[in-house]
This record gives sequence, C-alpha cells and structure tokens, in this order.
Amino acid sequence: MPSEFALIDLIRQRVKSRNDVVLGIGDDAALLTVPYDQLLVVSTDTLNSGIHFPEDSAPEDIGYKSLAVNLSDLAAMGATPAWASLAISLPTTDIDWLEKFLDGFFELADEHGVQLIGGDTTQGPLSITITVHGFVPKEFALRRDAAKPGDEIWVTGSIGDAAGGLAQWRAQGLQSAKLRHRLDRPTPRVNVGIALRGIANAAIDISDGLVADLSHILQASKVGAEIEVCRVPMSKPLLDHFPDDQERYRLQLSGGDDYELCFTAPAHQSMTIEQALADCDVIGTVIGHVVLGTQLKCLDENGELFEVQQKGFEHFNRLLN
Ligand code: ADP
Ligand code: MG
Repeated sequence: MPSEFALIDLIRQRVKSRNDVVLGIGDDAALLTVPYDQLLVVSTDTLNSGIHFPEDSAPEDIGYKSLAVNLSDLAAMGATPAWASLAISLPTTDIDWLEKFLDGFFELADEHGVQLIGGDTTQGPLSITITVHGFVPKEFALRRDAAKPGDEIWVTGSIGDAAGGLAQWRAQGLQSAKLRHRLDRPTPRVNVGIALRGIANAAIDISDGLVADLSHILQASKVGAEIEVCRVPMSKPLLDHFPDDQERYRLQLSGGDDYELCFTAPAHQSMTIEQALADCDVIGTVIGHVVLGTQLKCLDENGELFEVQQKGFEHFNRLLN
C-alpha cells in the first residue's frame, strides 16, 4: 500500500508556484509573503462525506467543491485568493481516487491562481478541511456587519438549484443533471466579490440557505429586512422540475449550497452594480431592502407574510429543522 509520503508526493507534483511563496509543501510550515498594503483574509471549511456531499459523489467533484466552498468565503469578503492548505483524511490510500480528487481540486485552484502550500494527510473516514488565504486592500473588506437601513438586497445568479439537486438525489427519482451539477460544482463568485469592493456595504455567501445567511447579515448589522419571495431568481431547470410554487420557494429560501453571493448596497449604486455584475458575466437581482428593526419579513406576491418553517441548514439541529 502506498505510504502517506507517496500521497503527499503525488499532491506536490501537481502544484503550480506563485512568486509570493518562499517555501511551499515539504517543510514543517510554509513561508509566505503578504503584500504590505493589504489585509490577509483567512477562512477554513470542512467537508464530511454524507453531510456536505452525497456519498456517491465523483472524486473530481469532491475535489472541486471542497475548494469552491472555501473560495466562496473569500469571495464574500471581497478578497483575491492566493493560497490554500489541504488537510485530508482518507479511508485507504486509493491513488486512483486521490488523482481524480486532485483533478477537480487543481482545475479550480489553477483557474484562480491559488497555490497549495501545505496540509496534512491522515487515515480515517473521508473528510476534507481546506484553509484558504487571500488579500483585500485595507478598508475594502466586505463584512457582514455593515448593512444599512435603505440598502437594497441583492443576490447573484439563481437560487435553489443545489437544494433542488439534493432533494432529487434524496428522493432517488428523476434527477436533473443541471441541478445536480450546481450541487456538485458550485461557482465561487470571486470576481463579483472583488468587483463589489467599495460599492456593496455587506456581503455573505449563501451556503446554509438564503434566509439563514441573510439573517446573519441582519444580526451582525443590527437591522431588519423585507424580501419578496417571488423576486428570488430561479433557473429554468428549477422551475421545470419544481413547478409547485410553495415547494420551490422552500428550496430557494431554506436550501443551501448554491454559493451565490447575497449583498446589500445603497440604492444609488444600482447602475454601477448592474454594470459590475455584467462585466463578471453574472446576473444580479434585487430581492428586497434593509429596514430598521431586527425582523426578516418574507412577503408573497400579495404582500402577505410568507412563513418560512426551516431557515436553513444547521449542523447540530438537523433533526429539529
Ligand atoms: P509534519 O509531520 O511536520 O506535520 P507532514 O509529514 O504532515 O509534516 O507533511 C509534510 C509536508 O507535506 C508539509 O509541508 C505539509 O504541509 C505537506 N502536506 C502534508 N499533507 C498534505 C496535503 N494533503 N496537501 C498538501 N500538503 C500536504
Ligand atoms: Mg503533519
């Protein structure tokens, strides 16, 4: 059976070097050069088999998604990604599986110019923990605590596709390849986050569910919001596969895993935002606005309150949700 070091060697061979890495994989720690005029932005996310991805996911998709969800956190801070470290726990030293995992991982890493600078390789149930590092100019970080009453609330792309894909996988009936693709290969909106520097007030990426994640912005900013459920953008595959409005709204409001950005910005910025998003080839939609108070109100097409039973995914209360 290949050793831990054979696996690390395999990983190391795939790395493309950046100039700001003085020392990458191979020593006790990496040595890195941080631009003097920027803040270092750091984020970690773990993906556990059966919780963060279906057990039958392709290894390429697991590699891609593990990095994508981490880059999405950098995107939500307005940061430019630079480096990643990878702590992976594998049940066996399956070289073929690892090669495929690395295909997905490095496809996305290379697209964003991210260098793998270290990690840890252990034996155990399949689990992947990635830490990403990026930079943002001082004063330009997009934080959760900066939403202001009167701000418009925007989301990028379409919402609910990944939750639709997951619901179909759970039901084991007809499955849309497009919805499943959104679950397996989310696109981190890195270019959007960067384009929104100095324009948006607050931002978050939608990982747990729109209502849950928007609520984090509201709580941190000590404000409330009103959103109109029928304005939450949906894709054609979602509409085709979930024609029932109530069921689809539930997926869009409470389902997570889309990794779109939700951000707030003053209304006078809307033309600038439209242009910035168009330059990124991403659609943006205003779904509501920030208000005084602490409540999040979801309104239906008649202006009446739409009850959201389940706000979103939460690890330690999964049975309650
Ligand atoms: P140590 O015992 O000093 O922690 P390791 O033997 O765990 O070192 O790792 C050796 C080198 O390989 C280190 O530079 C570490 O960062 C790197 N490394 C180990 N596992 C991975 C991995 N999964 N991905 C990237 N680098 C890794
Ligand atoms: Mg180690």
